Amino acid sequence: MSSGLARAEELRRLLNRAAHAYYVLDAPDMEDPVYDRLYRELLDLETAQPELITPDSPTQRVGGAPAEGFESVEHRIGLLSLDNAFSLEELGAWYGRLLKVLDREPGTPLEMVGELKIDGNALALSYDHGLLVRAATRGDGERGEEITANVRTIRTVPTRLLLAHPPAWVEVRGEALIPDATFAAINAEREARGEALFANPRNACAGTLRQLDPKVVASRRLDFFAYTLHLPDDWHPGPGDPARPTTQAEALDWLQAAGFRVNPNAARLADLTAVEAFFAQWDTGRRALPYATDGVVVKLNNLRLQADAGFTQKAPRWAIALKYAAEEAPSKLLRLACQVGRTGAVTPVAEFEPVPLAGTTVSRATLHNADRLAELDLHAGDTIVVRKAGEIIPEVVRVLPELRPAGAVRLELPLVCPECGSGLVREEGEAATRCVNSSCPAILRGALRHWVSKGALDVDGLGAKLIEQLVDKGLVGSIADLYGLDGALLASLERMGAKSAENLVTALAASKAQPWHRQLYGLGIHHVGEVNAKALAKAFPSAADLATAAEGTPELISAVYGIGSEIAQSLQQWFATPANQQLLTALEQLGFSLAARAEERAASAGSDGAEAPLAGQTFVLTGTLPNLSRSQAQALIEAAGGKVSGSVSKKTSYVVAGAEAGSKLSKAEALGVAVLDEAGLQELLEP
Ligand code: NAD
Repeated sequence: MSSGLARAEELRRLLNRAAHAYYVLDAPDMEDPVYDRLYRELLDLETAQPELITPDSPTQRVGGAPAEGFESVEHRIGLLSLDNAFSLEELGAWYGRLLKVLDREPGTPLEMVGELKIDGNALALSYDHGLLVRAATRGDGERGEEITANVRTIRTVPTRLLLAHPPAWVEVRGEALIPDATFAAINAEREARGEALFANPRNACAGTLRQLDPKVVASRRLDFFAYTLHLPDDWHPGPGDPARPTTQAEALDWLQAAGFRVNPNAARLADLTAVEAFFAQWDTGRRALPYATDGVVVKLNNLRLQADAGFTQKAPRWAIALKYAAEEAPSKLLRLACQVGRTGAVTPVAEFEPVPLAGTTVSRATLHNADRLAELDLHAGDTIVVRKAGEIIPEVVRVLPELRPAGAVRLELPLVCPECGSGLVREEGEAATRCVNSSCPAILRGALRHWVSKGALDVDGLGAKLIEQLVDKGLVGSIADLYGLDGALLASLERMGAKSAENLVTALAASKAQPWHRQLYGLGIHHVGEVNAKALAKAFPSAADLATAAEGTPELISAVYGIGSEIAQSLQQWFATPANQQLLTALEQLGFSLAARAEERAASAGSDGAEAPLAGQTFVLTGTLPNLSRSQAQALIEAAGGKVSGSVSKKTSYVVAGAEAGSKLSKAEALGVAVLDEAGLQELLEP
């Protein structure tokens, strides 16, 4: 009980502050789905323990109090909020309650109307004998701000109803909105003027409606969709006027006939199945709309039944807003875990209470690295905001320090590797903290997974689970050990049969024939991805060539098109590590070529030169160059696809001449062959 009391208090404080920022300041400091979920948590607490309800709870009122600067006016008919459903189960539960209130058998189909839930601002429009006399914001539902002058600038709000015999009064509710394109333009303008940006179109719309200068409002071109109609009981249509509506669908038609813009996507829905289909249709269809929607609103069609169902304190019982899956949500952190990748990089991972996000349930999210962890200021037991948009990997956006348990400890990366216990290292200028123990099982598992992956040696039948078993049981200590595994041993492992063991042995043997660039990529050298591995394999047709360059002339490596000094450095480090040298020897003994085969060499020589700036050109070197030795210059030219020849002819593309150049230079001059110095050569090499 006491913990519920404290939590309710915290939530109230947090939500009230957020609602003020949202409704009064038009500058939300919390994501809507995060607000919704915390609001729901408070509501659930209050439902379970009604003694927790206080009059200042955000669950007890609609919207926010009217802002200053505008006259506060009392609505003729109160404006309500809508109850939310965040899933089809919640929709079903709402429908069940509705049938009960209406005294119908469970499962009775009732016709409904589906409308888009436009993410704008509710307006209350009052007409007196057909003339617009007042427009107000929803405010707290009882009283709103009078903004008639501003609303008159909205072209789709009629100032006079198109009726032969307008009623003495009409109350219309609808949504004012700013289309996405206008929203972007407004924010661009504000940015140019150095003003704070609006968080979303809804806030931009709310801010605009509260502009003191109607000219500014007019310039922002707001739009309006009408969706609710209240008429006096004694009104009867005149000739040519639409009949008095008896359903919501007819009310929409009536509004349209009277001159309002009505959203064209409303649909009559025969039962709950039709509602679900409507929701599914707009869950994707909304992306093509030029304005924001955050769900669909489902309303009982029959107005008499609506009246029978009535209202709760805040919302009609006969309507529900079915919200689209959120891409952000709060959750409670359970544990800070650490993942060690194949490069030894340690990634902190937040494990939290499962939350539904963008259509899946999420319970883990990356925290990237130690800096991000520190920036988030994560503490044990924190409530975090998690985001997963579409295909994007879930991440922790921020924490809500207001909901932090008292005395919670700040979380940091461990000092030792969670897998092998050796000390973690973070090099200056590097974002990653690493385990540098080359026999760390996590690094080994990662290296093996990478070696057998699709772009590398592409070995079928060696999944992560099997690799885990092989490493944990000490059966494999390096990539080379994979090739010593025999079928009988493999067959004895968990979830392995004789057949799959045999297939794996065959697949491993076959992988020895993979080309050199795949072998190079498979080694998992830092920064050597698939594309770089191809470029390197072309310029250095064997591991021995690459090792020699890495050791003695790393500038030859950085000169390869698309490869820079960072990669050269990484290769240098890799080849200098004894364990890696042993690995290469072992692979060679197993029958790996670690070199391009003749046909690969031919293919790369005949390649179109898109990656080889000097393809098809012949060079002759003469004299002493200021920086490069003869052999270095030759290697650079060859790495860039050029050829080096010993004698000058008409076919020579360039003569590269250094100090004390001899007869070759004079011959070049005689034949009219272009002559370059070292700088000129470098320019050709770096187009
Ligand atoms: P609501 O926006 O969820 O639903 C009610 C509103 O829906 C109506 O007032 C109306 O403006 C709108 N609506 C759109 N189309 C409609 C249609 N066809 N028929 C009827 N109504 C339609 O409820 P609310 O009470 O305005 O406030 C809750 C909303 O405000 C939530 O989305 C919440 O996330 C947001 N909020 C956010 C924060 C924050 O800090 N981010 C704070 C407070 C509220």
